[in-house]
Amino acid sequence: MTCNEWRAAILSGDHPEGLDGHLAACVECRRLADDLRSAADLLADPLLWEEPPPDLEDRIVEAVERTATEPETPGAPSLRARWLGLVAAAVVVAAIGGAWLTTRNPAPDWTATMTGTGATPTAGTVAGWNTESGTRVVLEAPGLDPAEPGYAYELWFASDEGAVVSAGTFRAADTVELTVGVARRDYPTIVVTLEPLDGDPRPSGTAVLRSTGT
Ligand SMILES: [Zn+2]
Repeated sequence: MTCNEWRAAILSGDHPEGLDGHLAACVECRRLADDLRSAADLLADPLLWEEPPPDLEDRIVEAVERTATEPETPGAPSLRARWLGLVAAAVVVAAIGGAWLTTRNPAPDWTATMTGTGATPTAGTVAGWNTESGTRVVLEAPGLDPAEPGYAYELWFASDEGAVVSAGTFRAADTVELTVGVARRDYPTIVVTLEPLDGDPRPSGTAVLRSTGT
């Protein structure tokens, strides 16, 4: 039994032969066992699922088998078993990633409402976390169209004296995470501009979103 098969079995709640043997022999899987069992409990909760189509699993496997070119080795786990293992591993990664995001994203230290300043009115929010290295910000602006080719959006922190520090550039802003090396108390205004990718590091002056209040 491979690690992926073992993990898939734990996640699905199956008890195939070799389950205990693999656990006894594999340090890695022992280390993951508790997380996997928690994930399995979570996955077993019917509230988590919004009626996936009953043939979803078969459709995934079918699609995979259609595109697979690797020949089957006699005695090796079937392609289906291996893909289910991979899917299970992906679920584990997603579950662990979710837990990691939750611990990494406690309530923000501050939030700012962003209002549109361009021709197309859009809105958004910026949440900020003060860190030792500066400020981590998450911009959510689902109404912002992706930047045209040759352009990018750029998020700036601006001081009351007019100094600006860039937190970085992005194309679309459903959710964008950026980091800036200053604190918001020194740079209270947040502005998103549309920047031509012309090598000029200065703000273009074309603001599309600006923070309101503090
Ligand atoms: Zn293992």
